[in-house]
Amino acid sequence: MESDAEKLHIFLFPFMASGHMIPMIDIARLFAARGTKSTIISTPLNALHIQESIDGDKNSGLDIGVQVIPFLCVEAGLPKGCENTDSITSPEMFMNFFKACDMLQQPFEKLLEEHHPDCVVSDMFFTWTTDAAKKYRIPRIVFHGICNFTQCARKNIERFAPQEKVELGSEIFVVPGLPDKIEMTKSQFPLWHDETKSNMMDTLIQKTEVTSFGVLVNSFYEMEPAYAEYYKKDMERRAWNIGPVSLYNRNSTSKAQRGKKAAIDENYCISWLNSKKPNSVLYVSFGSLYRISTSQMHEIAMGLEASAISFIWVVRGTNDKEQYSLPEGFENRMEGRGLIIREWAPQVLILDHPAVGGFMTHCGWNSTFEGITAGVPLITWPLFAEQFYNEKLVTKVLKTGIESGNKLWKLTMEPDCVQVTKEKIQEVVTQLMGNGIEAKDMRRRAKEVGEMAKRAVVKGGSSYNDLTALIEELMANKQKLKR
Ligand code: UDP
Repeated sequence: MESDAEKLHIFLFPFMASGHMIPMIDIARLFAARGTKSTIISTPLNALHIQESIDGDKNSGLDIGVQVIPFLCVEAGLPKGCENTDSITSPEMFMNFFKACDMLQQPFEKLLEEHHPDCVVSDMFFTWTTDAAKKYRIPRIVFHGICNFTQCARKNIERFAPQEKVELGSEIFVVPGLPDKIEMTKSQFPLWHDETKSNMMDTLIQKTEVTSFGVLVNSFYEMEPAYAEYYKKDMERRAWNIGPVSLYNRNSTSKAQRGKKAAIDENYCISWLNSKKPNSVLYVSFGSLYRISTSQMHEIAMGLEASAISFIWVVRGTNDKEQYSLPEGFENRMEGRGLIIREWAPQVLILDHPAVGGFMTHCGWNSTFEGITAGVPLITWPLFAEQFYNEKLVTKVLKTGIESGNKLWKLTMEPDCVQVTKEKIQEVVTQLMGNGIEAKDMRRRAKEVGEMAKRAVVKGGSSYNDLTALIEELMANKQKLKR
């Protein structure tokens, strides 16, 4: 057995949002399961949140822990206790949240000085961690939480600016230089896409990809080989594909406890699903952050009702009323056929159940990849961030999903906003869940990709080997520095 001094010690520093923390915690576990010591750095409330599940990991023998650093929310103009993007309700709060994140630098450096880990894996938003780690001769690895395809498409949009050659938001242009023909429209990007501020952040993030030790990608080679190569060769990034990281969670308890505490008893959820036929249930969720408008919630409800399909729908409070805005009597009418879960569902547990045959998703990368990994075809409904790229990966590269039709990037939805009508929802749901040739083909392809994903993480698989290669390189680096 290795002594503590010989063991690799990895610091993992996630951005404080569910979509960033969840995969990073899985990565911490993956490292620890391969014999390293993993320390997750987080702020007091977030640390409190994850402590119980980390204690569980410790009890099962992993060398894993949490180090807390203060988050100066009030000083940055945020309400007390606002330590996670889940509690952000306005764009101004986002700006202040980033301000408070910048103030983490000093306490973080103090931790580096005290513990001197062998590597820092930190979120892309913490660009300053590259230089902070360099000061102590510690390699920093960037974690974006997105796939190779999206990295490459995003880069080529920036490099070749094809959007500048079209006038209307709805005009189609081809993203140049990619292995596949990928068409997009200007409306699928934020309005501020060309403005200096976001570009400055993007530029900084990309610069740190090059100046850091490398990039960890939550993907696996066989899913997107052309893009994994493109990212390394054309974009000259050092990258390790180690996903799907969600597959670290193998039993129902760890699947159910990912992220927050679910608003439904996991056993009830499983027995509900057990009562359904294989591939007959559609899972509907729009992630951990986004709030769907009241009008859109009603359209979804009516579309689902008209489709006659069984479903599980995770509803979050709407942005205007902070209430679960469902049509009158809807839940009663759907009893037995539709299960409504408020705020937080045990997503991976649900997706992995054989009764689930489709996933309507907002295309956040974690959700998209969890759906792909479960071997389930998707209905893509991108909303914001890089989600429109993820949609293209699914519908045009993997061909394991169909588009809901939303083409409008929107950070928030006005109360009366309807992006997809009930008729369209009914149409795509019945198409995806039906027995048409296209649906059957999609289901078969989705299953194949899901199986590939599972093979990638077992001993000898591509993701397993990439993690081995990284650990060996970090170990060699540690030895070199000792000399
Ligand atoms: N998630 C979950 N239950 C929910 C909503 C979300 O477990 O009810 C998890 C989901 O499995 C994924 C993450 O939260 O791992 C959401 O990340 P994603 O990148 O999909 O979207 P975001 O929430 O960042 O928009």
